[in-house]
Amino acid sequence: MTYSVSPIGFVRSCFKEKFAIPRQPQLAPAARGVLELVAPFDQGDAVQGLEQVSHVWLLFLFHQALEEKPRLKVRPPRLGGNKSMGVFATRATHRPNGIGQSVVKLDKVEANRLFISGIDLLDGTPILDIKPYVPYADIIDNASNSIASAAPQLIPVRWAEAALQQAHEHAQRLGEPLVALIDQCLAQDPRPAYQIPTPEREYGAQFWDLDVRWHYPEAGVIRVLEVIPASN
Ligand code: SAM
Repeated sequence: MTYSVSPIGFVRSCFKEKFAIPRQPQLAPAARGVLELVAPFDQGDAVQGLEQVSHVWLLFLFHQALEEKPRLKVRPPRLGGNKSMGVFATRATHRPNGIGQSVVKLDKVEANRLFISGIDLLDGTPILDIKPYVPYADIIDNASNSIASAAPQLIPVRWAEAALQQAHEHAQRLGEPLVALIDQCLAQDPRPAYQIPTPEREYGAQFWDLDVRWHYPEAGVIRVLEVIPASN
């Protein structure tokens, strides 16, 4: 039996590529976006009352990870990418039906769009539903998960002077907390765990309309090298 679903909106996000997006929401509070609703949900009626809510659950499609053949086992990056696990024990993007869920902060409600932050969503992500976060039901005091028992350990992020200057200038132009965004995302060390980076090796990712480049001058330390307009 098959069912069909259709998006109620799409996210315009600070994240233009999968690399360097935090692995869960709330890990980078400066990660912001706008959920643009589509007809018939863009008239105001559907979001009436949401201004009384601080956070929402978003159900969405991992539209850049959809696969024909469902996987039963996956190798979550969280476990270093070399240990396999039942797909339902993980939050892996490659999963049956490709559905993701994230709890995000709701900063502002307008008739046809929601301003959200603390997101882990790629630009263009199709949203299937929005539900208010209900603290009394959604907070479970004695919950445990020994596969992912704590947020990822953060590493120090340093800045080349010129890169910091560039970031401040672009932050002003965009009206976005860009330095915090880069700090928060890179502190989670986006590099695949199996890669041992040499100081010469540069990494890069696009945030908003900017290419951010960094390297690892020593083990466990990131240094941002430049923040320049993206080439695409
Ligand atoms: N919080 C969600 C969940 O638990 O279902 C997502 C968790 S998943 C591990 C987070 C990763 O999904 C991000 O780091 C990003 O690389 C990837 N991602 C985000 N949006 C995506 C999209 N639309 N298509 C494919 N991958 C996406």
